[in-house]
Amino acid sequence: MIKIDHLSTSYSTIDGPVHVINDVDFEIFDNEIFGIAGESGCGKTTLLKALYDIIEFPLVVDSGKLILSGEKNGKAFSYETGQIRKTWWNNISYVPQAAQSVLNPIVPLKNQFLDSIPKADKRREPKEHILKRVADYLEELSLSPDLLKAYPFQLSGGMRQRAIIALATFMSPNVVLADEPTTALDVVVQRGILMMLMRLQKQLRNTMVIVSHDIGVHYQITDRMGIMYSGSIIELGKTEDIFEKPMHPYTQMLIGALPRVGDKSQKAGIPGRPPALTNPPPGCRFAPRCPRATEECRESVPKFREVEQGRFAACHLLNKEGVW
Ligand code: SF4
Repeated sequence: MIKIDHLSTSYSTIDGPVHVINDVDFEIFDNEIFGIAGESGCGKTTLLKALYDIIEFPLVVDSGKLILSGEKNGKAFSYETGQIRKTWWNNISYVPQAAQSVLNPIVPLKNQFLDSIPKADKRREPKEHILKRVADYLEELSLSPDLLKAYPFQLSGGMRQRAIIALATFMSPNVVLADEPTTALDVVVQRGILMMLMRLQKQLRNTMVIVSHDIGVHYQITDRMGIMYSGSIIELGKTEDIFEKPMHPYTQMLIGALPRVGDKSQKAGIPGRPPALTNPPPGCRFAPRCPRATEECRESVPKFREVEQGRFAACHLLNKEGVW
């Protein structure tokens, strides 16, 4: 469905390019919820922007590409980087970070729904029919059709987030990208949003890509996940396998730091900070924080490779069977 083919991107700055995505190469399948996890600043949002083809200066694609392909209403489609935006809303849609703030506060929601419908569809179908379909869709999602008359400033943060998700999924896109969909919401609303995303994915049988720094979000809703560190995917596999047997030292430390019910042991954070992307260390970028780092780690970049069927990781110390 989405093939990320050796993608590298950078931001142009007056001091030269800052490389934010480094040779990222993996696939996201049909009918799955795929999570992208990692600390702030590791490149998650930039990768999601590249997936949605928001490649605008100063963001530049240095090499590689993305291919979005699949089938909708019996018609096959395939779009590459630079073409994907032609199919926004129809085959792919995006719930941006701080989505509650992206709705225009002084435009009623019904106009914002109408704006998202491609012009060709609006020429074919009267406005009233479209709005009736939107109202029915909101009801399907257990939301009141009266929402359409509301202005965003009249709604709570959680309700605005639900409205944005409804907007992003109304055209039944094959892929929905969501950037930190639960950030800045209280835990009860967060749970409601996660349930809504899971229900929608089951109903649409599409692909959802969820970016979140909250590893608990991935545990709750994703089928597979990729862990990012300093612009690269360093581990990828089925979510349950990653939680059960994390392979990369960074993933082990991330998961080891999670609180668990009944576990009263002291949790240790990951020492140090992620490297500055303007001046990353040579070799493995996790080496300055890794308790297992060797000379080899400090000198050469570990290859991202399949260490078990469907399990990928980038670490020199992993043998072919994925064990130390
Ligand atoms: Fe640690 Fe070396 Fe593996 Fe990097 S390659 S994660 S430094 S053991």
